[in-house]
Amino acid sequence: MNLAQSEILSLPGGPARVEWRRSRRARRISLRIDPRGGAVVVTLPLRAGRTAGMALLMDNADWVARRLAALPGPVPFADGARLPLHGLDHRIRHAPEARAGVRLEGREIVVSGEAAFLPRRVADFLRAEARRTLCEVVAAKAAAAQVHPARITVKDTRSRWGSCASSGHLAFSWRLVMAPPMVQDYVAAHEVAHLRHMNHGPRFWALVDDLTPHRAAAVAWLHSHGPRLLRVG
Ligand SMILES: [Zn+2]
Repeated sequence: MNLAQSEILSLPGGPARVEWRRSRRARRISLRIDPRGGAVVVTLPLRAGRTAGMALLMDNADWVARRLAALPGPVPFADGARLPLHGLDHRIRHAPEARAGVRLEGREIVVSGEAAFLPRRVADFLRAEARRTLCEVVAAKAAAAQVHPARITVKDTRSRWGSCASSGHLAFSWRLVMAPPMVQDYVAAHEVAHLRHMNHGPRFWALVDDLTPHRAAAVAWLHSHGPRLLRVG
């Protein structure tokens, strides 16, 4: 059986992008919404057919329509666009005549130069700001935990906010720069704690809680607002 990986289907609630996935590990057919792509992801176990997937989709058409309608629209980097920076609402302002570069003026991200370069400039600015912030927070947490990260990189990871390799290399999503400081604090503490414990055991969590008071609030924030951050840029 052939599965088109992604297609637009007209469901009772309106057209929807549907992504079909095959999974060796799945026990049953499941539906979920991918907030980044704005698609319904249907996961089929090896033996399930597309017909069964379509049936589940139809049975849950109302839920799918409601969830898709509730997704925030994508926020491209453009003049007038609004995005959070360290948890505070900011607006991008294109100022062609301004001095070279990108700078913050109150709640505005002021971008000079040609309009064509604006998205790239904003992206570079946010990555640099993410790097500066996360390096600072990681340094404080690492000192408290008496560990030494080998290297810190900031990239566009979509599935994880942070990671820690056994080499001691920490990586973070640049998108954390948009989150409130307490969330940045928690994610940094989490990855730094992995430099001591490469697992999620009780001693790991005890160290995380020693390093940050924000674990519960940050996890809840990422759960409800994280998907929105994936739609920016
Ligand atoms: Zn972890």
